[in-house]
Amino acid sequence: MPGASGVNVESSCEALCRTLVSQNGLQRETADISQSVLYTSLMGLLLVTDDEKEQLTLGSGRVGLRNIGNTCFLNAIVQCLSHTRGLRDYCLLKSYRHEKFSKEEAKLMEAFSQVLLGFWDVNEGDTVVNPRQFYNIFREAVPYFSGYSQQDAQEFLRFLLDKLHTEINRRPYVRRTGKDPEQKYTRFRISEEAAAMWKKHLERDDSRIVDLFSGQLRSSLHCSVCSHYSNTFDVFCDLSLPIPKKSFSGEVMLRDCLDLFSQEEKLDKENSPMCERCNRRTECTKRLSIQRFPQVIVIHLNRFTTSRWSISKSTVYVSFPLTNLDLGPYGPVDCGPVLYDLYAICNHAGTVNMGHYTACCLDENGWCYYNDSSVTPVSENQLQTNQAYVLFYQRSNSTATIRK
Ligand SMILES: [Zn+2]
Repeated sequence: MPGASGVNVESSCEALCRTLVSQNGLQRETADISQSVLYTSLMGLLLVTDDEKEQLTLGSGRVGLRNIGNTCFLNAIVQCLSHTRGLRDYCLLKSYRHEKFSKEEAKLMEAFSQVLLGFWDVNEGDTVVNPRQFYNIFREAVPYFSGYSQQDAQEFLRFLLDKLHTEINRRPYVRRTGKDPEQKYTRFRISEEAAAMWKKHLERDDSRIVDLFSGQLRSSLHCSVCSHYSNTFDVFCDLSLPIPKKSFSGEVMLRDCLDLFSQEEKLDKENSPMCERCNRRTECTKRLSIQRFPQVIVIHLNRFTTSRWSISKSTVYVSFPLTNLDLGPYGPVDCGPVLYDLYAICNHAGTVNMGHYTACCLDENGWCYYNDSSVTPVSENQLQTNQAYVLFYQRSNSTATIRK
């Protein structure tokens, strides 16, 4: 990032931070505002808007990817990520080079950015990009993917984001000591406890990937013996949702999957964690909710179920909104509407063993269907099929989101 504009962004961010802090009475304990979570998040946003957008002259992005042997899972996911603006612009401008957090070369990031450059080059010399170099570097980093068999797109996405994050982590040299000792935050309110956990996370893991994709899940436990409530908070980069069997109306909506995901679940003694008050395992109920909403929410419709002997695939049609998906009801109490718009879909057609991945992505001129090397425009009413597997939503009302 060029010196002058960097300073501007930082000072405007700091000023905005201070205003928000004084208005909301947050952060009493930190004098150094640049260390706060609020500051980091705002910087993430400001860097995208101020620094990156204006410097780019882009082509259409409507370029396919060669299938180099069962690589449709990779092609579909890379297209979805290529349409994730905050990530695309960061890659095209090679912003990670200027950030220089780690001394090690960001090999995978370089190769990934090279693929995106092929897509978005304004001269559009290529009609197809070959992902071989990127894939080779990825497989070196993640040997799990070294076979030639079909791989799961969702798994690939998780591994890819994780590896990219590691390379561009802004805290590369903070020692990881495994799991933290259990901390007791009982004197805090839930939101303060959650904020403390999030801050702890950012102290070790903080990158553009985190700015965009990371959120926080809350799991609340209620002991049925002593009625004690407790919460645990986990960072997530995607929501993996169960698909209900057909409902009475015959149609399953994304909302039904979310309801099932966040529905109270009874845990018997064997499967429940220790109750802090009873000091033993007891029957309890567990509920999941979203404590902190990410900029981009990746929703995985979990179509594959592994039983003892086999994997089966659900082909239930799940309808999902293209705009204004409201996740507010799955967030903290009284958080109001939290709206998201769809911009990419990764589809899976076929069976467990014989399947094919494709993608539908939105750009400034509409939706396109990406099937390996072929790219064709597609209309909105063709987007919803029973093949939808991973949905990418971008937050649309993110400016009004600083909660106490
Ligand atoms: Zn108890």
